[in-house]
Amino acid sequence: MSPVLSAIKVPFHRPSLGEEEIQAVSNVLRSGWLTTGEKTFEFERRFAEYIGVRHAIAVSSCTAALHLSLEAIGLQAGDEVLVPTTTFTATAEVVTYFGARPVFVDIDPRTMNLSPCDAERRITSRTRAIIPVHFAGQPCDMSALRELAELHKLHIVEDAAHALPSSYKNQRIGSLSELTAFSFYATKPVTTGEGGMVTTNNDAYAERIRRMRLHGMNRDAGDHAPVAASWQYQVEEAGYKYNLTDMQSALGLVQLAKCDAMYAARSRLAERYQQAFASFSTLQLPESLPDSQSSWHLYVLRLRPEGLRIGRDRFIRELDLRGVSASMHFIPLHLQPYYQKRFGYKAGHFPQAEHESMRCLSLPIYPSMSQEEIDHVICAVADTSQCWAK
Ligand SMILES: *Cc1c(COP(=O)(O)O)cnc(C)c1O
Repeated sequence: MSPVLSAIKVPFHRPSLGEEEIQAVSNVLRSGWLTTGEKTFEFERRFAEYIGVRHAIAVSSCTAALHLSLEAIGLQAGDEVLVPTTTFTATAEVVTYFGARPVFVDIDPRTMNLSPCDAERRITSRTRAIIPVHFAGQPCDMSALRELAELHKLHIVEDAAHALPSSYKNQRIGSLSELTAFSFYATKPVTTGEGGMVTTNNDAYAERIRRMRLHGMNRDAGDHAPVAASWQYQVEEAGYKYNLTDMQSALGLVQLAKCDAMYAARSRLAERYQQAFASFSTLQLPESLPDSQSSWHLYVLRLRPEGLRIGRDRFIRELDLRGVSASMHFIPLHLQPYYQKRFGYKAGHFPQAEHESMRCLSLPIYPSMSQEEIDHVICAVADTSQCWAK
């Protein structure tokens, strides 16, 4: 394959949307009821059923879901929360909303998830909670984390932005911990454009989050009447404006019904990649762990620097020349200027996360990829590896 003559362009992501989604949103527009109402309550019921959990509370983003979860456990200024450094800024940013401190944790190089051993070393008398992130959809070592949480009386709030549907020891992510936050952002496995969900088995947390997502008003809590259907309500707290609209929920209902089929399609693509790259000495492939199932939200390759004459940035540019848009997840948070300035983090603090972040890249993996597109990505990776092998 000549790098400059690539006829196909494979985008990093394309949402899986069809006529059904367009119809569902159009129906809401025609109904005259746009914001939180029956569609949202139906989306919550279906989501809770799908996960196997008592409560699902729809919100405007995963960031809002994480914020409301930390609010529900009563996080206070001065508290500390353990967060992997290899994640999106939202996971740590919500901790700062409370005047609390995100305490970064290094990763386990096998999965790139936060390391329970490193987490334990960073526990102090001020540590209140831990936010495990299921990186790329691969579940964290929840048994070890649960043990740690019980021993040190910590809350667990899972960031499951990548983990729909993932499972750990045959239980869906979202049913394991006190609180779990999901994302329906445009690039996530199930999308509503923007949106999120909190799942919990705890009635008190669920009630608190339902109230706080809509201005701290109590109308939304008990009965399932549309939130704006009555002029009668009581303001019990200074809450937030974090509700999800019925337009988004209608989209979410269709997407949720396709969740298993979309997961099966991503699994097949991941299997193709695994087989195609198995014999490459220049690449380290993602591992599937025996007691868990990854959603395959991301397919993260790691380059073996000892076998290649180019680094990751150049590798991504070479793929781009060959018509493949790759991406990278994530620049560790302790290298970001805000966290360095505010909390004193420095390069060198989390060696494992830095090492992996220098050599990882994410390949396109989404249900609407055609046979031609997946073949093209495989050829582009193979060609780049061969051209630049030592
Ligand atoms: C996307 C993402 C979020 C934020 O999700 P939003 O719905 O955009 O708020 C949080 N954590 C991780 C790991 C993410 O990838």
